[in-house]
Amino acid sequence: MDTPTDGDGVFLLKRVHNDGSNTNYDAVASERDDDESKPKKRWKTILRNNLLLILTITAAILGIVIGFAVQTARPSPRVVMLINFPGEILLRLLQLLILPLIVASLISGIAGLDVGTSGRLGMRAVTYYLTTTLLAVVLGIVLVVSIQPGDRTGGGCVDVTERSPVEKLHTLDAFLDLVRNMFPDNLVEAAFQHVSTVEKNVTTYRRCPDSVNNVSRHLNETVHTEFELERRAGMNVLGLIVFSIALGVTLVKMGSRGEPLRELFICLNEAVMRLITVVIWYSPVGILFLIAAKVAGVDDIAALFTSIGFYFLTVLIGLFIHMFISLPLVYFIFTRKNPFKMFRGVIQALVFAFGTSSSAATLPVTMRCIEENCGIDQRVSRFVLPVGATINMDGTALYEAVAAIFIAQYNDITLDFGQIVTISITATAASIGAAAVPQAGLYTMIIVLSAVGLPPEDISLVIVVDWLLDRFRTTVNVMGDAFGAGIVQHLSRKQLAISDSCGESVLTSNMEEHETRQ
Ligand code: ASP
Repeated sequence: MDTPTDGDGVFLLKRVHNDGSNTNYDAVASERDDDESKPKKRWKTILRNNLLLILTITAAILGIVIGFAVQTARPSPRVVMLINFPGEILLRLLQLLILPLIVASLISGIAGLDVGTSGRLGMRAVTYYLTTTLLAVVLGIVLVVSIQPGDRTGGGCVDVTERSPVEKLHTLDAFLDLVRNMFPDNLVEAAFQHVSTVEKNVTTYRRCPDSVNNVSRHLNETVHTEFELERRAGMNVLGLIVFSIALGVTLVKMGSRGEPLRELFICLNEAVMRLITVVIWYSPVGILFLIAAKVAGVDDIAALFTSIGFYFLTVLIGLFIHMFISLPLVYFIFTRKNPFKMFRGVIQALVFAFGTSSSAATLPVTMRCIEENCGIDQRVSRFVLPVGATINMDGTALYEAVAAIFIAQYNDITLDFGQIVTISITATAASIGAAAVPQAGLYTMIIVLSAVGLPPEDISLVIVVDWLLDRFRTTVNVMGDAFGAGIVQHLSRKQLAISDSCGESVLTSNMEEHETRQ
């Protein structure tokens, strides 16, 4: 990956041209290459330009190797925790930056568009998200029904991991929570908490003193259900997105009066991107230790693939087909461009997604890759990517559909067509509701299971391989966002050009100003 930097190691910001395209650093790099006749020098240039990518991939591979080596020595949980520590720091740093990044990038992205264009961009993005997610779910269902992984366990043993009792999660409540969280009642609280409905059994009775036995008697005991809203730890990203979009649109509508606040967010966005650059140079170290600790901490690696190997394989095949066939095909149909250039551009983000299991933590890297290597207009990437990272999870949806049907097959429950349709709809909804953090999909899967009457506690059947599948599905989720940005940019190119010709966007002029100052 080309990573041009200025003198102090901070990545150069790219000029947004009137046609909406960015300066092509690949072209600049190759021109530079042509001048360097000696192959040795050329290799040096390639190495320098791709240093971060090479380091990240090497770190991921080393992490797996070291993890396996340490795993054979059966390390104690304390040792695993210590190995994980540098990785934990990376995740903390990325999570620290997500809040200002989402808010500032959305507001500054919308600030560069007129209201009509941002509306169209949003519509296109949401249509893409829903279509590809449904596509992934259908693919998953076709595979799981054809491979029948649940029947292939042959009534044999399956490794089960049980954690705390599984909470009930009604489909209706999950949907209401999704909408509720879109409209937070407290913006500050949304930065660290979200709400979730919990079902509680309340017992009422009449307590009467019994002087004979000297104990109180409970009469007319009744149990009824109550629904309560519980505040839970974890950023309410959806609420922040809705608020940022609303604020961005309002600032655009305010015209010159909204300028000071727009400038503030544009500046904040630029500052956050610079901080991200620093963190990203630390990321190879973090990724190495994150992966090493995870592999080292697995009790029995062979068991992963023997007990529910067919289920694991079904999800993996589905993710592979979706990532390398379905998504590139959709991208090609809409844009007529080579999808594999997109892969090359975002490969660093993909390794990151695999290492961190979190689309949210990967967002800063995805944004940088897409802007710097794929020529995506910042007005598109800043708008489409934060929303995509939060609601567009093709990999998660595919996995949830496969897992639900696998559980039905394992329990010898035959699902009718209506139930399969219900699974496809709820898996799509559950993936939208899943937070972009490690293994969030595992818990929103309860919604899918409850919707068709499957036992929610049976998620314990698939927990054993979830940490690994999570890495693969997160990678697919991130790739889906990247293709989405490419498609939305292509479909919106005319509006972006018109928006440019009607006067340079605030964003563009701001960035040019920045470059001049450099
Ligand atoms: N870890 C996934 C992500 O961040 C969500 C999930 O499927 O658990 O995209």
